[in-house]
Amino acid sequence: MTPDLQDKTAVITGSTSGIGLEIANALAGAGANVVINGLGDAAHNDSLRAEIAERHGVTCLFSPANMLHADEIETMIAMAAEQLGGVDILVNNAGIQHVAPLEEFPPQKWDAIIGINLTAPFHAIRAAVPHMKRAGWGRIISTASAHASDASPFKSAYVAAKHGLLGLTKVAALELARSGATANCISPGYVWTPLVEEQIPDTMEARGLTREQVIEDVLLDAQPTKQFVTSRQVAEAALFLCSEAASQITGANIAMDGGWTAQ
Ligand code: NAD
Repeated sequence: MTPDLQDKTAVITGSTSGIGLEIANALAGAGANVVINGLGDAAHNDSLRAEIAERHGVTCLFSPANMLHADEIETMIAMAAEQLGGVDILVNNAGIQHVAPLEEFPPQKWDAIIGINLTAPFHAIRAAVPHMKRAGWGRIISTASAHASDASPFKSAYVAAKHGLLGLTKVAALELARSGATANCISPGYVWTPLVEEQIPDTMEARGLTREQVIEDVLLDAQPTKQFVTSRQVAEAALFLCSEAASQITGANIAMDGGWTAQ
């Protein structure tokens, strides 16, 4: 059953594309006012903002906060609190990937992946928690990955960041256990989004494979169902985590990976 989020405010990082955009639409569809966020073309992002507001009849704001900068993350959370009355739901979703062998992995890519995929959720959580405590209710949902529990070669920074994100989420769950707020990870396997599409050329190079071989033998090879997860399925899981039925789910890692991590 879809939760009623009419009096809630949600901040979804990295929500101008892929999974985050789908989660923003799902939460707005349940009545939440939302703050969307992402990089890229300002006019495009503003049209996404207007589309969400119009389609769902909610207030939708756009934050250009770069997840590499703590002060911009703080400003994004403060904007939600000031203009929308609180921060009830925080979805840590922004993420990037880079595929290369360890000895060739560019240190600046390591720093960016750890910064966006792990350190940004820390800054967003620490800024959002006081608002959740004040409201006596909250939901922290982090888009982790099958790589939060399992490794793959050539993804050192991403695997380290996602393992860290799950650890951070468990700590948040324990610290918030008596506050009415929960913290959980949703861990998808491969979801067909720009993030996956863009790593195909590097994977082709790192493994010496064709595009078709990467899709069949690397991506879908990991998933026993041999199907991509959809962004909508991830968004439905996020909606469920916002429901009353999920109030005792905290500190959990919800695998959504076609059986990948069951192996
Ligand atoms: P995507 O590339 O479609 O979207 C990424 C979003 O993050 C965009 O809105 C982009 O603007 C934003 N972003 C990137 N860098 C940013 C920065 N510095 N500051 C602010 N925003 C920034 O990616 P996606 O596939 O939808 O991935 C979303 C999340 O899901 C990521 O955390 C990713 O690791 C995770 N994930 C994806 C898959 C998959 O197969 N696609 C699988 C498991 C987990």
